[in-house]
Amino acid sequence: MRVIVVGAGLGGLTLAQGLRRAGIDVVVYEREEPRGRPQGVSMHFDDRGMTALRACLPPGHVAMVEATMGGPREQALTLSETDGELTVERSQSLDGTKGPARPGRQVDRPLLRAVMLTGLEDTVRFGAPFARFQQLADGTVRAWSADGRTEVADVLVGADGIGSAVRRQYLPHVQVVDTGKRMVMGATPLRRVVGTGLPELIGHSAARAQVRGTMMAMGILRFTQPPVAARTECLPGLDSRAVADAEDYVMWALPVTEEQLGTAESPAAVWGQAQELVSGLPETLRTLVDSAWPDRTVVLRNGMIPPPPVWPAGSVTLIGDAIHVTPGFGGNLAMQDAHRLCAQLVQAARGEKELHAAIATYEDVMRHENFTTPAASRPAEAAVVSRGSGG
Ligand SMILES: Cc1cc2nc3c(=O)[nH]c(=O)nc-3n(C[C@H](O)[C@H](O)[C@H](O)COP(=O)(O)OP(=O)(O)OC[C@H]3O[C@@H](n4cnc5c(N)ncnc54)[C@H](O)[C@@H]3O)c2cc1C
Repeated sequence: MRVIVVGAGLGGLTLAQGLRRAGIDVVVYEREEPRGRPQGVSMHFDDRGMTALRACLPPGHVAMVEATMGGPREQALTLSETDGELTVERSQSLDGTKGPARPGRQVDRPLLRAVMLTGLEDTVRFGAPFARFQQLADGTVRAWSADGRTEVADVLVGADGIGSAVRRQYLPHVQVVDTGKRMVMGATPLRRVVGTGLPELIGHSAARAQVRGTMMAMGILRFTQPPVAARTECLPGLDSRAVADAEDYVMWALPVTEEQLGTAESPAAVWGQAQELVSGLPETLRTLVDSAWPDRTVVLRNGMIPPPPVWPAGSVTLIGDAIHVTPGFGGNLAMQDAHRLCAQLVQAARGEKELHAAIATYEDVMRHENFTTPAASRPAEAAVVSRGSGG
């Protein structure tokens, strides 16, 4: 079996690692260059991401991630202001009973991605944007990259995020709704906020400050083991640049609108805009943003995908943000999709299941868990729409 994965994000790389471990021939097209656009700062990693990681990646990779995660995150704090100081107004357990948030740990996103890329040097084609596909009469799929190169595979997986070119061709009726909301995310060395009281106040918890009409989310990543030492011990093949400058930091996020962001695009310009947005907030929050690494400031768009009607399974499928978007947990869900699809493709490759039946099983579970409207959560009763065959 040969599989083309489009997108070297969390979902695509988890899938590629899992397929490779199972001896399945896989290639990944990634439009960015290896050190291209930053893909985030840190993320909350829960049991779904961890289960997928353990199932799909080799033990040394898993050990590297586990060794460098932050401490257990079991509480979500709401901070408010008392006499100009930040204080904890409310603490809520992240036990899964009061919302979708689950307990987990903070993971450094660039480091996680570098770990996932380790061993896939011959598998990921950087600077290779996917352009289109055509489903062939024998059930295989031909994919084109933007430079005109083509390749045929048994399965094409769109793991190309919210703007997915695979989804736009395969399920053209599925539209992304731009909420107009944006999130500016940045990171500040922990040493720069020592003395403000913030590290002691929030510990390993997720924190959300609601002060003077502004909301700001925060979390500290204290690497359990220094990444340089963990690399030597767990994954010497990891690119040493991924750990060279690693130090503990505070991740912060500010919800903004497109209008508030103005024309700011480069990390430094976005950082400047963030400084302006917090200029009227208590000193601790101003220090947090003023002392951030300018080049690690990113803007993330918040889109949503309304639940689509069921489509018949074929040789093309989608995982992660390419088909469902959940800003706070989407990385975990993309990895969970990758794990589940990988398990199905392995069964098909071993001849234990027909290929399209295997993909249908994956898609039914994925739809059932990620889309909650009645039409999408009852696949058997939902309307079936046709898909684009390409070509
Ligand atoms: C503010 C914010 C905070 C978040 N925090 C968390 C969190 O704490 N925990 C969590 O689990 N999730 C979090 N998420 C969600 C998470 O970031 C996403 O759900 C996750 O990145 C989705 O992974 P993916 O692999 O599906 O897609 P992506 O990570 O978007 O990867 C897609 C890849 O495809 C590539 N690509 C795109 N088009 C093409 C093309 N045509 N050809 C080739 N390659 C292409 C892109 O360059 C990219 O590498 C957050 C999201 C936001 C917005």
